[in-house]
Formats: sequence, C-alpha cells, structure tokens
Amino acid sequence: MEQRPVIIEPSRKTPVYGEFDVVVVGGGPAGIMAAASAARTGHSVILLERYGFLGGAGTAGGLSTFCGLHAKVYGEHRRVIHGLADELLERLEKLDGLSKPHLTINDGIQAQAFDISAYKLAADELVTGHGARILFHALAVGLVMADEDTIDAVLIESKSGRAAVRGRIFIDASGDGDVAAWAGVPYEKSPGINGMLYPSLMFRINGVDAAAAGEKPWRTVERLMEEAERAGTHKFPRKKPIVRPQRNPLEWRANLTQLSNPDGSAIDGTDVDQLTRGELQGRRQVFDAFAFIRDNTPGFGDSYIVDIAPQIGIRETRRIIGRYMLTEDDVRDCADFPDTIGVNGWPVEAHVAGTVEFRWPRGENPRGFNQLPFRMLLPQKVRNLYVTGRCASMTHDAQSAARVTGPCFAMGEAAGMAAGMALDAGVDCADIDVPELQRRLENHGVYLGREVK
Ligand SMILES: Cc1cc2nc3c(=O)[nH]c(=O)nc-3n(C[C@H](O)[C@H](O)[C@H](O)COP(=O)(O)OP(=O)(O)OC[C@H]3O[C@@H](n4cnc5c(N)ncnc54)[C@H](O)[C@@H]3O)c2cc1C
Repeated sequence: MEQRPVIIEPSRKTPVYGEFDVVVVGGGPAGIMAAASAARTGHSVILLERYGFLGGAGTAGGLSTFCGLHAKVYGEHRRVIHGLADELLERLEKLDGLSKPHLTINDGIQAQAFDISAYKLAADELVTGHGARILFHALAVGLVMADEDTIDAVLIESKSGRAAVRGRIFIDASGDGDVAAWAGVPYEKSPGINGMLYPSLMFRINGVDAAAAGEKPWRTVERLMEEAERAGTHKFPRKKPIVRPQRNPLEWRANLTQLSNPDGSAIDGTDVDQLTRGELQGRRQVFDAFAFIRDNTPGFGDSYIVDIAPQIGIRETRRIIGRYMLTEDDVRDCADFPDTIGVNGWPVEAHVAGTVEFRWPRGENPRGFNQLPFRMLLPQKVRNLYVTGRCASMTHDAQSAARVTGPCFAMGEAAGMAAGMALDAGVDCADIDVPELQRRLENHGVYLGREVK
C-alpha cells in the first residue's frame, strides 16, 4: 500500500472477550475442520469468523462445489478425503444439500456440488456439535504477543467494539495468513502480473429449461463463447468458463469472471482498494456474461441471475514459508512424505491472465494424489501457531492445486488434532509426536495415502 499520512491513536484498555485453549481465525473449510477437530480433543475452542456464517469461499465466494474430495487413483475415481469430511457430507445429505459426484475438467476428475444454505447449517452444527464455540461478525485485526515467538491474544473488532481473545494455541485459517503475517512469520506473495492467481466473482442462474438445454449443455456454453470471441462479437474476461447445473438443473452455477487491476495484474485480496475494484468489476462482468449466455444458449432464454456471491472469491494471497513448502513437482509426481497428514488429488489449476491452465499428475496411469506433510502447517518463528488451508506452506504452483476444499479439510483436521496434542503434552506446536498424530487421524477415518486399498 502506498505511504499515507498517519495519526497516533490514544492507547486504550481492551476488554478480554475470553480465554481459550485454541483460537481458530477463519471459518472456511480449513477453519471449520480445525475447530471441530481441536474441540474433539476435549479442549476449549473458539472459532472467529468475520461473516455471519461459515464456509469461507464455499459460501461467501459462492462456489457450491467441493473439489479435491476425490482423486483419479490409477484410473479409478475415488474419494480420498475422509475423517470429519465424512460427517460434514452426511450432514449435508440429511439436509438434502449434496449432489452425487460429477466429472469435471474434461472429465478428468470428480467434484461434488452442494447447496450453499445447507452447507452453512451443516458447518455450524459440525463445529458446535463437537463442542467448539463460534463467534460470528468478529474480524481479527491484530495480535498481542506475549514475547517475540508466542502469541497471547487475537484482537477482534465487531459491533460490540474491540476485544482481545486470548489463547494458548492459535490456528490461522484466514486464507490470507493474517495471523501469521501479524506475528512476523515469513511468507510469500506472488507478484500481481504473471504471478498471483486471479480472483473470480461467482454467480448462479435460475430458470433454465433443462430439456431444451440438451445433453452436456455446459459444453454448448463454452463452445458458443469461444465462437463469439473468434467472430470478434464478444470479448470475455477469461476463457474456460465453468458453467454447470446444480442438482436441480433449473439452477446453474457460473465461474467465468476474472478480476484485475488497470495494469492487468490480479486483484490482491489483502488490499481493500483492490477488493473494492474487484467487486465493482465483477458485478459488471457477471451481468455482461449472463446476458450472452441467456441470449445465445438453448434453454436459457427465460433464465435470470438468482444470486451473485456475497464477495469476490480470492484464490491466493499470502502463503507462509513453513518447515516444508509443497511444490508443483510434489503434486504432479504424487509425492509421499513420512509426516503425511492427508492427501491432495486435485491437479494444478492455474488462473492466469485470460484463461485457466490445468496440469495433471505425470506418467501413465498415475496414483493421482500426493501426500500433505505436517510441516506445511508449521510456521517459522512462532511456537504456538499452526497455519492451515490455502495460506499453508506451498509454492505458488502447488497452492494452485492444494488450495481447493478437500485438502483444506484435511489440513484443518490435522491442525486441530495437533493443537490438542500439543496442549496435552505441554510442547510447542512443532514438537508433537507426529506418528501418534497420524495414528489418531487414521483412527478417526482420515486417509493419509499410505496405502492404496
Ligand atoms: C472463485 C473461486 C472458485 C473456486 N472454486 C472452487 C470449487 O469449485 N471447489 C473447491 O473445492 N474449491 C474452489 N475454490 C478454492 C477453495 O474454495 C478455497 O481455496 C478454499 O475455500 C480455501 O479454504 P480456506 O479455509 O483456506 O480459506 P477460505 O475459504 O478463504 O476461508 C477463510 C475464512 O476466514 C475468514 N477470515 C479471513 N480473514 C479473517 C479475519 N481477519 N478475521 C476473521 N475471519 C477472517 C473468511 O471470512 C473466510 O470465512 C475456488 C476459489 C475461488 C476463489
């Protein structure tokens, strides 16, 4: 951010909202699982979320699809994310909010659509059902450090004013690595041009005549957009639109916008001016793209936009430089790690300027997933912090794969379980007994990718 004039605020006494064993910041896929998993170890846990609902990009960003729950394992599509994710999917099913898995990305891998409202409730009940407390409408804005390498409290701002939430262990599931950055943890941020993944604003279309739309109508949408670009009648912000029906084919989700600054660089989700530009630009793109789809695609003539996501969807900002950084080679060569805490089966999905590039596991008939090492969750410098989800320790290219929901579920569950173990053993976050963590995760049904059954 440019240098601006400053004012000196008066010092203040900040009320302590509460003291908890584990404080989780951010209620996306990683934070949901971290909070539920930590609470299951019997410790007091609070989950701080800036919005009034959980789900992160899945709800606030309007995704409505779980990617990365599945992998193509030696040619066979299989679900590889289990543990607490099983419970979440069961809850979603009971709420009638889960579709069957479908093939996506040229039929190369499975994803699974969900109903956004049902996901919010299922996540609430998963977290509170395991005994964690949720505090909504609480934006974390800073830290109080006990000493150079120990966090004492997270400062929050809400309609009730400013408060401090004290903890013994903190889990940064903010997606943006906010807590890690405030604590002085080393991190990387890709450059805006030829670097950071571009964000998108998602929307949903309703009133589609499924019969008139025909077989695999998403291919029709893509073909029509490509033809219009070639003919020069239209210019879309991005190629490779992902426009797919929900379970009721009356309703479709659309992932086809791309948000950028005037110089073409990706909107940075940690810059409030750029976020604002992205929202304004995104809504314009949504209406323009929708008008094309409605006017040109069979079955869409009477359709309308039923929802634009509450916020633009941010794919990448800060990534910590932790004890190990997952790499693209790890993803594409299906790497194993002795400290595996779960797996990622999603390919590299790079949202580069104007399009999306996919890069798959290498070799003929590959195993189709890599293991995720515990060290990805371990920041440098701070002893009572785990960093989980899309801001965990990954290179830009690896993050383009392992940022999706499935692996974030796995990372979150592991971080929460590890927090409980560190508290029980009275050790720093990095010093827990990793084989014991693996044993406990497997006992709870988590698949660590150690053998293919
Ligand atoms: C447009 C788009 C489309 C995508 N499509 C898919 C898809 O179809 N399927 C899929 O599986 N993945 C998809 N992804 C990727 C995936 O959804 C995310 O990367 C994933 O949600 C990351 O999970 P997370 O928990 O690490 O972070 P997020 O989902 O980003 O969650 C972070 C949470 O922390 C909260 N938070 C942040 N900062 C603070 C703070 N300071 N104080 C309090 N709360 C805070 C946020 O409100 C949010 O709830 C997509 C991403 C985008 C952007």
